Amino acid sequence: MPADAPSEFALPDGVHPFPHKHLTGIAGLQPWEIGFLLNEAEQWIALNRATAKHDDRLAGLTQINAFFENSTRTLLSFEIAGKRLGMDVINMHAAQSSVKKGETLLDTTATLNAMKPDVIVIRHDASGAVGLIADKVDCPVLNAGDGRHEHPTQALLDALTIRRRVGRINGTVVTICGDVLHSRVARSNILLLGTLGAEVRVVAPPTLLPPAVERMGVKAYTDFDAALEGAEVVMMLRLQLERMDGAFVPSPREYHHFYGLTRERLALAAKDALVMHPGPMNRGIEITSDVADDIQQSAITEQVEMGVAVRMACLDVLTRSRRGVEGWA
Ligand code: ASP
Repeated sequence: MPADAPSEFALPDGVHPFPHKHLTGIAGLQPWEIGFLLNEAEQWIALNRATAKHDDRLAGLTQINAFFENSTRTLLSFEIAGKRLGMDVINMHAAQSSVKKGETLLDTTATLNAMKPDVIVIRHDASGAVGLIADKVDCPVLNAGDGRHEHPTQALLDALTIRRRVGRINGTVVTICGDVLHSRVARSNILLLGTLGAEVRVVAPPTLLPPAVERMGVKAYTDFDAALEGAEVVMMLRLQLERMDGAFVPSPREYHHFYGLTRERLALAAKDALVMHPGPMNRGIEITSDVADDIQQSAITEQVEMGVAVRMACLDVLTRSRRGVEGWA
């Protein structure tokens, strides 16, 4: 926790820092539990920057990455994280699995569980699928993104990036722009940043804003310029075309005109505002290349770097009780 964090964010006396078996979402996490995971991640940043990148505290454990939906950075990041901690890491791609032969999700789950993994990392295109699987297996489950629901490690890595670059999360003005309706990244970030006291704004065309989004504690805008005023962090989202059934925006060109982050628009935000994007980016649609590649203001590659550290922390923390780590409930 940064020094300026209010005391309600500190771990209360006698409370377990992370009493959960799984990490299926940010919803329901206490501020100190989020802070604990972020603090745990800090130690891995230096290791990841060193030449020798091994800490074999999870040696002998088996990690299965079961990905039922495409991924580049999240899958790689979880694989690297597990390997740096010494685990045997196995990737299951649904496209090459019995899922294609019609096997049900629960049968696939039972098969994975019978192989006695120590942690399962799951990505699925159905919202809630990861929670369903978590109920059926013996080991901890980590959600690597389920439909429009949650992507908790993305929100954690975004928070770690903000905390390191801005110096705090509490009170920080964060504008999230784009396809909020279909984005699990937006949802997990809104939950996390709100829990840690940030002022969160969301901005999108009316068709891409969830109904009653203000109930999540955010301010909703349809005018990007207005939403940028005073923003210290500008988080851009990809148009999730694969989740759209119908036309939600008239054309990518028009979308860019109103909601694309250009250098001129960025000048409306706070001085030196941090630019973020979870990737993959649609250059020229939600963000221009000069903004995305700006070495001062863009934190996009740093987000990827923080992703490995955050995932190492989550894998370590979730497997502590099975490893009999002293003092761990
Ligand atoms: N990579 C992120 C996700 O899996 C964001 C995106 O796909 O746009 O949700």
